[in-house]
Amino acid sequence: MKPLLDSFGRRIEYLRISVTDRCNLRCVYCLPREPVSWLPRQEILRFEEILEVVRAGAELGLTRVRLTGGEPLLRPGLTDLVAGLAQVPGLRDLALTTNGVLLARQAGVLARAGLKRVNVSLDTLDPQRFAAVTRFGKIDDVLAGIEAALEAGLAPVKINVVVMRGVNDDEIVPMARLAWERPLHVRFIELMPIGEYFTRERLVSSREILERLTALGPLEPAEPAAGCGPARTFRWAGAKGTVGVIGAVTQAFCAGCNRLRLTASGQLRPCLDDDSAVDLKEALRPKVDAARLAKQILRAVAAKPEMHGMFRRETGSARLCMAGVGG
Ligand code: SAM
Repeated sequence: MKPLLDSFGRRIEYLRISVTDRCNLRCVYCLPREPVSWLPRQEILRFEEILEVVRAGAELGLTRVRLTGGEPLLRPGLTDLVAGLAQVPGLRDLALTTNGVLLARQAGVLARAGLKRVNVSLDTLDPQRFAAVTRFGKIDDVLAGIEAALEAGLAPVKINVVVMRGVNDDEIVPMARLAWERPLHVRFIELMPIGEYFTRERLVSSREILERLTALGPLEPAEPAAGCGPARTFRWAGAKGTVGVIGAVTQAFCAGCNRLRLTASGQLRPCLDDDSAVDLKEALRPKVDAARLAKQILRAVAAKPEMHGMFRRETGSARLCMAGVGG
């Protein structure tokens, strides 16, 4: 199949799909404490509509899908969507990003439905700190979810850690140890300038994170565990897993960007940090117009900017919210 290229010659093959804007946590760097107003149910794409988008995208050259949110495991019947996606010709990767709270219950059925792998967000191993960062989460639920994912054969299991100076940067080494002992892939992510929480002081650069990791021993570059994301991946000789850093802010990795993001309400966003979006709902409702859908997807690809502007920003963007866009 002809590759799907944007106007800068980048191959676009990866679609991140937010299946709900709702979340059962309120991580300080992601959502405000006060209840936000969630999208009305009729605004949210139905599973059949998501499948139409993915089928159209796969025909154009998309090969990878990740389900995210909000918290995707809050969406009732998610297994049915996974089963449908697993049947789409041309898709070779089907992954999920979750906070893990509901994963223990769902990992097995999701794996049986065709989910291949999972990323679990976990910023600390300290129960009290976890409760503070997520505002009301219980860490034991997430740890049980990680175990269930390993048991279900979802592989690789990646752990996403957002590093914040003065909050959890003293846990870089303890969290990296998870990758020694278990087949886990721990990725440290720079805090992105989103919302009021971000300050330059809180940002710990991927370079500094790597320096701290070398305290555990010399790191060797490693093949990234499945996925073609922006992480730089390393391992220690003898370790069961890998560690990685994602320099979302300090490393301009836009040159390798391969993704589009579908919001829960059917907006296709060319770039995380760009408000412009192409409305796919108009090609889906009242009934599916396949030709229009393909055209709209191509419009989003053509609109991909060369670079995001996050590395220049001193304060968090008030208009951007990972939970809304599908982080
Ligand atoms: N609820 C799911 C979860 O927690 O993984 C999926 C959605 S969440 C928005 C996706 C990812 O975005 C999480 O790994 C989260 O840590 C990350 N994220 C949200 N806000 C961020 C920020 N300001 N900087 C870096 N990562 C952020």
